[in-house]
Amino acid sequence: MGSNKSLLMLPGDGIGPEVMGQVRCVIDWFGDRRSVGFDIKEGLVGGCAYEAHGVAVTDEVVDDAMNADAVLLGAVGGPQWDNLDFSLKPERGLLRLRKDLDLFANLRPAICFDALVDASSLKPEVVRGLDILIVRELTGGVYFGEPRGIENLPDGTRRGVNTQVYTSPEIERVAKVAFELAGKRSGKVCSAEKANVMESGILWREEVQKVHDAEFPNIELSHMYADNCAMQLVRAPKQFDVIVTDNLFGDMLSDEAAMLTGSLGMLPSASLGAADATGRRKALYEPVHGSAPDIAGEGVANPIASLLSFAMALRYSFDLSDDADLIENAIKNVLEGGLRTADIMQTGKTRVSTIVMGEAIISELDKLAA
Ligand code: NAD
Repeated sequence: MGSNKSLLMLPGDGIGPEVMGQVRCVIDWFGDRRSVGFDIKEGLVGGCAYEAHGVAVTDEVVDDAMNADAVLLGAVGGPQWDNLDFSLKPERGLLRLRKDLDLFANLRPAICFDALVDASSLKPEVVRGLDILIVRELTGGVYFGEPRGIENLPDGTRRGVNTQVYTSPEIERVAKVAFELAGKRSGKVCSAEKANVMESGILWREEVQKVHDAEFPNIELSHMYADNCAMQLVRAPKQFDVIVTDNLFGDMLSDEAAMLTGSLGMLPSASLGAADATGRRKALYEPVHGSAPDIAGEGVANPIASLLSFAMALRYSFDLSDDADLIENAIKNVLEGGLRTADIMQTGKTRVSTIVMGEAIISELDKLAA
């Protein structure tokens, strides 16, 4: 078994450990059945880290995350930590990881499983077979730009200021991520900005085009105004493959795209950092959902978002697209067979626990790999 791939698993709080337990079973299955081995470390992040060490993440865990090929995170947070000082809150652990690993590219896929096509608010024919990926710039733009603040003007009025600012290296690096990912998918990138009304949008468009022309001429590139992109996502989402966009527009477009497909319990995500000399990128994979304190401990959480996040790790950190496909196909078949966790329950289907859903996915993996 080749075991030079390192994973750091951070289950976190609430349903995090429950859903990550199922990820662990699938990882073990890959070791046993596909000779895809991982060196696995586990650590604490969030409220559980605060209970053990008085901080939401220790320096040691941050170091482990820096050194791992990929980090798999469950979820953090819970009402018992809501009154902690801001600097100690569970979410600070996750934010510190994202910041220290400089994870500037956030990947949010929107994949519509046929079996759940009715869960979408759009017509089945619009979303059936949907598989798109939004790449959002995560560490720049208007959420971080200076000057910012609220000021009192001499005439007594108040003024709020935020600054949309991007430099060419910031645009180049996220554009490269989008083009590389498109190369592993169907080879199409749409870049969204507001070049019609914003100088930073003009720069964005020019820099993305430059990266394309210099390094990725084989990828099909189009440009679209972000407001039109929002409209096209609900009109005809299947026209897209990879969409690359800035922090603000990506915030909106990724939520819009994700919700085309239904439940929070089904949504994976990844955040990637810069490539090192060997091309390896720091990476953190996590479900979009939180720690779901309302159902934590009941054994009913949907593990699919976490399993799909692991599939993303296989595809994007380890170049194991066939293995990622196996997980996605196993999930698809189990849903088609009628099993549902409570969050995606539909009339006439069979409601199952977290563990039974995980076991069903593993039996399906057995069948697919036979
Ligand atoms: P949430 O995502 O935890 O839950 C929202 C609703 O969706 C709940 O009703 C929950 O039961 C349900 N849900 C979520 N994931 C599910 C799953 N896998 N299976 C079945 N049902 C699921 O969001 P919230 O309630 O706003 O936040 C709860 C806590 O999680 C808070 O402390 C919040 O700060 C934290 N949070 C953490 C993250 C993260 O770790 N990345 C993200 C969002 C919220």
